[in-house]
Amino acid sequence: MIDTKEKLKSILSLSPEEEAFDYTAPDSLSLKIPEYFFNLIDASDPDDPLRIQCIPNAREQEAEAGSGLDPLAEVEHTQGERLIHRYHSRAAFLTTDVCAIHCRHCFRRRFTATDQGPASDEEIEQAARYVAEHPEITELLFTGGDVLSLSDSRLEAMIKAFRSLRPNLVIRICTRMPAANPRRITDELVSMIKRHNSAPFYLMTQFNHGRELTAEAIEAVARFVDNGIPAMNQSVLLRGVNDDVETLVQLCNALVFNRIKPYYLFQGDLVAGTAHLRVSIKRGLELEAELRRRLSGLAMPTYAIDLPEGGGKVPLTGQYLVRETAEGAWEFKTCEGERRLYPEAPTLR
Ligand code: SF4
Repeated sequence: MIDTKEKLKSILSLSPEEEAFDYTAPDSLSLKIPEYFFNLIDASDPDDPLRIQCIPNAREQEAEAGSGLDPLAEVEHTQGERLIHRYHSRAAFLTTDVCAIHCRHCFRRRFTATDQGPASDEEIEQAARYVAEHPEITELLFTGGDVLSLSDSRLEAMIKAFRSLRPNLVIRICTRMPAANPRRITDELVSMIKRHNSAPFYLMTQFNHGRELTAEAIEAVARFVDNGIPAMNQSVLLRGVNDDVETLVQLCNALVFNRIKPYYLFQGDLVAGTAHLRVSIKRGLELEAELRRRLSGLAMPTYAIDLPEGGGKVPLTGQYLVRETAEGAWEFKTCEGERRLYPEAPTLR
């Protein structure tokens, strides 16, 4: 585990901006990189896309107007200590603040690595009761932090607590572990999860670059998929990491090839400390249009933004629907920029 500047400097020469990061500043996200992920970094390349995601950089500590630690207003929607109920049909449970890796783009910096540890039995029971009393919640996200940083036994107790009151609850396991440290994903872990399959589980991964899809990572995800747990990927659009078409095409096709559905490509949230990693929406839309032209529907993720002040998630797409015509038809723009008409009502002969 690389978790001190000294250790990091003993194996990697830092750029001036990386060197200037103030490790003692309050609210800064600490350094944490598992050996496995660190070994994927090309140490000779200061702009390596994997390096950018995990090595602290002084640019994180530049003040930015309009950003904050809770841009999605999660705190406002929190029930009890750790259950966020922001959408009608789903809720997110902050299982732990611990992660295998500290991603420099983390949108939940207000909580990640804040030494709060795993949810207590009382917090779990309280959240499980809330979910039981709200049948409109059909899906629960186990998030954090990283839920797979919990031990198998603690995770099992958590699953049982929710499933005992709501056996029909779909549970999403939201984790960066297959990318950060796939060795954590064992047959025992997956068998344990499978024992509680009164309703489906979904594995929600976060691969941001094709180089994270190593043989070990693919094998880790396959353990879930082979056991009937579908895998969906949520990437974050990151400057210098994946903000070019070739990288995204390669990533999305590799995901599909390995039975992981590219689900979302997220626009970066307005989280303090992440401005230098954010890509403009204009550029994001250009990428989305090109991806739509080059990828199959299966390989195409939804480019989406989580709107500030708790506005929720909305898709970001180019304007393919142009207008309703006076003749009772809809005018569309194709991916190639040509125009097509679709009638509002059938024209019977
Ligand atoms: S694993 Fe997830 S929660 Fe943890 S630091 Fe990375 S993005 Fe944040």
